[in-house]
Formats: sequence, structure tokens, C-alpha cells
Amino acid sequence: MTDQYALIGNPLSHTKSPLIHETFAGETAQSLTYVAIEAEAFAPAVDRFRAQGGKGMNVTAPFKLDAFAYATDLSERARLAGAVNAMRFEGDRVFAENFDGVGLVNDIQRNLGFELKGRRVLILGAGGAARGALLPLLEQNPAQLVMVNRTLEKAQALRQQFADVENFTIMTYADLVGERFDIVLNATSASLRGDLPPVPADVFSPQGLAYELAYGKGLTPFLRLAKGAGVHQLADGVGMLVEQAAEAFLWWRGMRPDTRGLIHKLTIPLV
Ligand code: NDP
Repeated sequence: MTDQYALIGNPLSHTKSPLIHETFAGETAQSLTYVAIEAEAFAPAVDRFRAQGGKGMNVTAPFKLDAFAYATDLSERARLAGAVNAMRFEGDRVFAENFDGVGLVNDIQRNLGFELKGRRVLILGAGGAARGALLPLLEQNPAQLVMVNRTLEKAQALRQQFADVENFTIMTYADLVGERFDIVLNATSASLRGDLPPVPADVFSPQGLAYELAYGKGLTPFLRLAKGAGVHQLADGVGMLVEQAAEAFLWWRGMRPDTRGLIHKLTIPLV
């Protein structure tokens, strides 16, 4: 039987994941199917998919925490992120990973050509995406990684998980006045509603990178602020999406697909 994979989430009407994984399968000559399962409840839908012989799943909103609870074997990345975005099924065992952060790091370094090592990096937000990004970002040895969040306690709770990491700092939005960063990452969901987190325009370096984790939204208020501050390298999260998919594909199939052509094809101009 052809190996079956799926994405589970809700809503999924705009998902690109089936297209991405079918493209990877074609490119690497792997025989598999990949479908989108828009589920009302997580566990019954996953149980059904496994009973039909399903080999693995990607997980998106709102089920990343359900997948964390459902897993039998969590990777270190998934454990620290507190969330799961990929599962592999082997008999009774459910191996679980979180590739969002490594997808982000690969996009920044390999595709956009920005080294994180030695740089001052600012991340806005402390939700699921930001949590998943922390360990992969810190593994690259930035000079400093600063996290700000509207609800300060959430960022402070994360800081405690990395208590012995000296180059990781929590600030408030108000503390950012007068601070400047090489790389600024918007991991808030503000852009999904056309909003802007209260970040001062002078945090950006013109030679640096402004990265919006949301994708398919064109020039969001965050990217518009960065453009107005003279930043010439702007990016959205489409590369992160494709790179996390490539990591999951490698984990499932043992082969790393090429990502650049697909990122190019899916990119919406940031104008
Ligand atoms: P969560 O709901 O888990 O977290 C949302 C975060 O945004 C919280 O830190 C919240 O702050 C903050 N926030 C929301 N609105 C505002 C605002 N107006 N001003 C300041 N802060 C705000 O979302 P996720 O972490 O799952 O997703 C975050 C973003 O990342 C989304 O845009 C999503 O599309 C994107 N993403 C992209 C991926 C990709 O592959 N490219 C993968 C996963 C996510 P508070 O704690 O105070 O509520």
C-alpha cells in the first residue's frame, strides 16, 4: 500500500502543505499520498488515520498542544517548545517533533544568507511559534537573543526554562526604545488581524533583516514599519513553512528535498 501522510488542523482551506509534500515526493521519486484533514476533534481523527495505516502527520493550529499530549515519545525540541508539529507512527508509538524553529533558522541562514552567530536578534511574541524557535535560535550562538511579549509573564516563564543561558534576555516593548538589532522576527499573530505590535521603528538596522513569520499576507504592518525604517531585506514566513516541511519529509522518508524552487513559486511579492 502507498504510504499515507496528512496534515491535521482547522481551518485548512488555504493550506499549502499537500502541494509542498506532493512536490517533494515527485522530486525525490517517493511514492506517498498527503492529504489535509480538517478535524473537529484531534484524537479520534488521528486514531482513525493510524488505523488506516497512516505513517505520519503534520499538525497545525489549533492542535499543536493536543499532539504534545497524544505523543508517546517527544523530541527535546518538542518538549522545550511545549508543542508538536510533526508525528511519526510506529506500532503503538507516536514519535513527535517540532520543526517550526529549525525551519525558521534554515530559512534565515541558508536561503536569506543571514548568519545568526554573533548577531543581536529580537523576537516579538511568546506564543507557540516563538517557543518553538527559541532552542534552534540559541543553538546558533547569537550575541544576544531578546524576547518581548505583550503578556510579560509568558516570556518570563520561558526564560526560566533557559535559566543558564546568558545570551537570552526578556524585555518589555517599552524597554526597546534606543535598542537596535541585526535581525527582528515578528512571531506575534498581530499581522493576521492587520495589527502592529508596539515595536519602535528604530529597533531595525538598515543592513539587517526584518522577518514576518506569518505568510501570504504581503507587506504586513510590521514589514511596512521595517521598510519605512530603511531595512532592505524583508521576508515573510513562506520559507519557514517550506523548510519545516522539508525537515518533516527528511524525518519520515530519509531524504532531504530541494526547497528553493518551491519557496520561489509560493512567494508573494512584499509590496
Ligand atoms: P499564538 O497564538 O501561540 O501566539 C500569539 C502571540 O502573538 C502571543 O505572544 C501574543 O501575545 C502575541 N500577540 C497577538 N496579538 C498581538 C498584538 N496586537 N500586539 C502584540 N502581541 C500580540 O500564535 P503562534 O505562535 O502559533 O503564531 C504566531 C505567528 O507565527 C502567526 O502569524 C502564525 O501565522 C505564524 N506562524 C508561521 C509559521 C510558518 O511556518 N511560517 C508556523 C507557525 C506560526 P500575548 O501572549 O500577550 O497574547
